[in-house]
Amino acid sequence: MASKVIIKDLTKRFGSTIAVNKLNLEIKAGEFVCFLGPSGCGKTTTLRCIAGLERQDEGDIYIDDELVNDLPPSERDIAMVFQFPVVYPATTVRDNLEFPLKQRKLSRGEIKERVNEIAKILRIEHILNRIATDLNIGEKQRVAIGRALIRRPKVLLLDEALTNLDTEMKLSMIAELKRIHEEFNQTIVYVTHDQSEALMMADKIAVMNLGVLQQYDTPEQLYSSPKNLFVAGFIGSPPMNLINVNYNKEKETIEINNISIDFSKYSDLIREKASSDTLVLGFRPEYVSIHKKCGRKDHLMGEVEIVELLEDRLSLDIRVVDQIVKAVIPSNYQVNIGDEVCIELNKFHLFDEKSGETIM
Ligand code: ATP
Repeated sequence: MASKVIIKDLTKRFGSTIAVNKLNLEIKAGEFVCFLGPSGCGKTTTLRCIAGLERQDEGDIYIDDELVNDLPPSERDIAMVFQFPVVYPATTVRDNLEFPLKQRKLSRGEIKERVNEIAKILRIEHILNRIATDLNIGEKQRVAIGRALIRRPKVLLLDEALTNLDTEMKLSMIAELKRIHEEFNQTIVYVTHDQSEALMMADKIAVMNLGVLQQYDTPEQLYSSPKNLFVAGFIGSPPMNLINVNYNKEKETIEINNISIDFSKYSDLIREKASSDTLVLGFRPEYVSIHKKCGRKDHLMGEVEIVELLEDRLSLDIRVVDQIVKAVIPSNYQVNIGDEVCIELNKFHLFDEKSGETIM
């Protein structure tokens, strides 16, 4: 049966560094959750606290409804897979997989059944009799994941477990982890700094920065409704355009040097939520339309500086006054370097520059 994990007010310090700062998070039974953020944001420390490899300074961790703060790792019924696969030397893949089950004194029949099942799911049936240390890194990581999963732990923790694999192997492992998650209804927590891995795999993503949880949401929500500037800039590739603008209260416009855009529709919201007139306008490159002629005065205008083919789309760098705006548009659009274009925003966000919080 899948297990849930509840983290309450978790704080972990290393000297004067606050690695994790008052983290609150609930991972539901059977959920696939990714901890995502730049290096040093506290992802691994949080994972190690869940595993019991690190003791938090403050806060509580519950697995199901049991408070596990004082339980050693071996009594938490958790399995962990690391960035560099750990396999037992001078033993076969089969021995590696059987070991955790023999420790638990399962019957021979059950051990055989579980080894066959996990080997099939991880596509390592053909290497069961090979010496584990002779395998390539992708095969070793499959064995490490198999050994972690075979005893059906309450929670499977993976720390950058696919980072060292080449792209093809990584994509195939992502598909396998998703399949394992669904077939076993396994609660999985996966740490990564790579947003594309997290967006592909997770039911929910905890975006962290400087030890602080920024947003805990589904991939779709993080992409469409970021709660602050950090999440807006971190999620999405190419990243969201973030342009500094001034709000003119009298005219109810936002202004970028000599460009002025009517924002009277949103003036109540801006008055209510903004701490000053300095705002950040955010819009994703894929949510703009480009026009050669400006019918209206309230669009952004700029000069095309770079045109690149991005698979089946065109990526444009457009200079708008002193800032570069990225636009991703259909590849059949005729546009050249030096063209003056008008940028229509089909969807946008507005942030308070000081607090970084989303206004709309
Ligand atoms: P990375 O992806 O680089 O591992 P991370 O997001 O997983 O980053 P953590 O490894 O959790 O971040 O580190 C969070 C902060 O705590 C960093 O500033 C790191 O230097 C510090 N830290 C982590 N472990 C220790 C330790 N054992 N001793 C001292 N400082 C540590």
